[in-house]
Amino acid sequence: MSLPPEPETVESKSDFIRDIVREDLAAGKHAQIVTRFPPEPNGYLHLGHAKSICLNFGVAQEFGGSCHLRFDDTNPVKEEQEFIDAIQNDVRWLGFDWGEHLYHASDYFEQLYQWAEHLIRAGLAYVDDTPPESMRQQRGTLTEPGQNSPYRTRSVDENLALFRDMRAGKFPNGARVLRAKIDMASGNMNLRDPVLYRILHAPHPRTGNAWCIYPTYDYAHGQSDAIEGITHSICTLEFEDHRPLYDWLIENLPVPSRPRQYEFARLNLAYTVLSKRVLTTLVRDGHVRGWDDPRMPTLAGMRRRGIPAAALRAFAQKVGVARANGVVDYALYEHTIRDHLNRSAQRRMAVLRPLKLVIENYPEGQVEKLTAINHPDDPAAGTRESTFSREIYVERDDFMENPPRKFFRLSLGREVRLRYAYLVTCTEVVKDATGEVVELRCTYDPASRGGNAPDGRKVQATLHWVAAADAVPAEVRVYNMLFARPDPGADGDVMADLNPNSLEVIPDALVEPSLANLPVGETVQCERQGYFCADPDSAPGKPVFNRTMGLRDSWAKEQAR
Ligand code: ATP
Ligand code: MG
Repeated sequence: MSLPPEPETVESKSDFIRDIVREDLAAGKHAQIVTRFPPEPNGYLHLGHAKSICLNFGVAQEFGGSCHLRFDDTNPVKEEQEFIDAIQNDVRWLGFDWGEHLYHASDYFEQLYQWAEHLIRAGLAYVDDTPPESMRQQRGTLTEPGQNSPYRTRSVDENLALFRDMRAGKFPNGARVLRAKIDMASGNMNLRDPVLYRILHAPHPRTGNAWCIYPTYDYAHGQSDAIEGITHSICTLEFEDHRPLYDWLIENLPVPSRPRQYEFARLNLAYTVLSKRVLTTLVRDGHVRGWDDPRMPTLAGMRRRGIPAAALRAFAQKVGVARANGVVDYALYEHTIRDHLNRSAQRRMAVLRPLKLVIENYPEGQVEKLTAINHPDDPAAGTRESTFSREIYVERDDFMENPPRKFFRLSLGREVRLRYAYLVTCTEVVKDATGEVVELRCTYDPASRGGNAPDGRKVQATLHWVAAADAVPAEVRVYNMLFARPDPGADGDVMADLNPNSLEVIPDALVEPSLANLPVGETVQCERQGYFCADPDSAPGKPVFNRTMGLRDSWAKEQAR
């Protein structure tokens, strides 16, 4: 095993949400706090959701409460079982457990319906036949009040009868809606008689054909919170303007508890789109290979790319929870992941673009076993054996025919160290008919085994390598930013900002034999190249690796300045 990751400290977590929870508990407002994470199963979870999951589950954990996983499955047209399964898998992978608290808004459809009738009976909801387009016009604008619908004054009995007919399937999609009767002149658009139910003749992944009317998010959400006894309903800032409606519904319905909604700033990350709508388009239109494409900011994509769950939790902690919207620097994200991997990942050697190197004075047929260490800071990670012989491969980039000043790696006449092995000096460059360098001839110093010369002479460069005798051919996928600008879509068309070079496939890399069976889910550092993990596309004898990320850390440098 490698070094344990940095402990996730509870004491260091402090933010306005945790302050509120702490105060509420101290004041005896709740015996126990209950939070929830309420994804809509219309796509895979992304990094933004990870922030919300870490907050909701984290707060529950820290304060001895519980956190519910609740599917906000109120729009059957976009929701699928695949997403329901993936979301559960991803939350668990991220390290959180909802225990027995798995719920669905659809579990409450009957109760929500009964409460809608309650609103009708109280004169607080009505069935509106206004066509959608006219309804939009009647809503008014931010500066102009809306107009009352001509159906607003329907009697309770007529409303009840029509609403029951809506439920019974007597009307086509869009023919009628149920609206709350609040205030068409409200400065808050959400209070201008918001829609509570719409007609949708579509089978639901869980309730099948039982329903053809479905509650809106706004109507379902707070009431679901109340049914589950949620104490702190934490959501992102765009719902701030919905809070008066949330409270209005809770006040006017005989709900069993009184949850409170709090809003925090959603996570935005430079060069990254965290919107399910856009991510869905990327998948549907084939811009990526699927929801778990390693370029995707989905949890499934990041997992496939080799990013450990603990590193994502560390990132969520680092960005913190606040009410001010902002965009997180991509370098901070990479720095956090790298910092984690640097501690957790075992070291290996792989050559991405191999160049053959023949050691002329090394006996033909001789094979030596060298010892390589698995982690420089963690002796417990142990060692492994690597094979050294007359023919090896080095990185093509580590040789230059006409080296500029300060290039200390291989060139004709230059001596370098081969990691864990010997000092070698390049004596000849072999080219093919087109003039391309195809092989280097070298000599080695037999007295320098382990990498140091007895006479103490210094070499500047240490190169990684693999032995021709047992290196394993592999495909390596190197990922670059999926979007070519820090603010994708700022000019309107987010797809126009896709980076055409986001995937680079290296078909003929060579890796050390111990990497041939690297389990999926383990990330290693290939010395001087970055972090890598095995892709599930790997087949026996034909491993495929993803580069999780390179080694250069621009963030740390920036901070040191
Ligand atoms: P998207 O904006 O990607 O379409 P969404 O908000 O529609 O996401 P939901 O499934 O409704 O997706 O989100 C579940 C929870 O995750 C909500 O409470 C939402 O506030 C939260 N969430 C979504 N995106 C982010 C984000 N970028 N940062 C923090 N929390 C987020
Ligand atoms: Mg949503």
